[in-house]
Amino acid sequence: MFDKPLFDASIIRDMQEIIPGLFLSGSQPTESREYMKEKGITHIVQVTFPNSPRFPGDFIYKIIAVPDMDETNLIEHFPATYTFIHNAIDKGGKVLVHCMAGASRSVTIVCAYLMKTKKIPVTEALNLIEKLRPIAEPNDGFIKQLILYDAIEYDVNINRTEYRRFLMSNMARQREVFGHIKAEDMTLAADPLTQQTSAPSIVSKTAAAAATAAVQEVSKAQLQSFSQKRPLKCKKCRRALVTHDNIITHAPGHGQNAFQYRKRDATLHVSQAIQSNNNNTSASPMSPTVCHSYFIEPVEWLQDVQSLEGKISCPKCDSKLGTFNWSGDQCSCGAWITPAFMLHKGKVDA
Ligand SMILES: [Zn+2]
Ligand SMILES: [Zn+2]
Repeated sequence: MFDKPLFDASIIRDMQEIIPGLFLSGSQPTESREYMKEKGITHIVQVTFPNSPRFPGDFIYKIIAVPDMDETNLIEHFPATYTFIHNAIDKGGKVLVHCMAGASRSVTIVCAYLMKTKKIPVTEALNLIEKLRPIAEPNDGFIKQLILYDAIEYDVNINRTEYRRFLMSNMARQREVFGHIKAEDMTLAADPLTQQTSAPSIVSKTAAAAATAAVQEVSKAQLQSFSQKRPLKCKKCRRALVTHDNIITHAPGHGQNAFQYRKRDATLHVSQAIQSNNNNTSASPMSPTVCHSYFIEPVEWLQDVQSLEGKISCPKCDSKLGTFNWSGDQCSCGAWITPAFMLHKGKVDA
């Protein structure tokens, strides 16, 4: 009974058709133009790093050049790969999604496609794939991104609080692993002074996409409470610092950090933060559960944001407002927040 292999070796050599028109494989089958033609493949999503298309004249390629690491942001490519696969199949084409082993990156892309197409959760989509390709096993970071994708209803958009928290935790993780954050991954909350009323409260490399999304979101945004757009201000000079939308809430005395963005956190809401902040101010100032700081998303006007830690000073009057630390810091209530961008409540007006 022990000599029975876990799966047929042909699984690695071949590609598997997960749903009609959508195939999955490692790199081995992609070395043969004839084999792919035989299977009727017309389009290829190649998720390898480094990479180059092998038969650019024969197939239409979509290249995602990323390594198979927990820290890789794959979710940002889900909208593009979904559209590519959907359009190809819609026109009667056949799509092969592959990486090196056909176990992690490519499986994640196919899983995300199945989730959105069939409106099914991660586990169900993965089961579907594993039945045909038992070696399917996305890395832990990708599993978390798939769970997030479900939580944000397939809407990869920086107006989504959970997605911004994910980007922030990814920045903190990059800072920890590599000692710096890549410029293209630096996503900062918009300076409320330069922010237009209809623009999203974030700027980044995807600002154009976000702006388009923001237009679609206008009616929803109009319904949002005014308090979310209201900025925290410097107590001394009244300079607007950051909107309430960019305040990170935490349960007092509990170490909820920014790395957690699972579905249950979606219930966290700014109004709750304000409520809990109000509750805290009414408590005794000596109480250990009082939060003396606002924790905010890193914002555009911050100085030396690439440093591991530093002071936060008002961009107008230079008075000291707080501190930041990418590795995290402890709130006065005992909660540990990572990363921590703290404004002392005594220095700002809500
Ligand atoms: Zn606190
Ligand atoms: Zn000031």
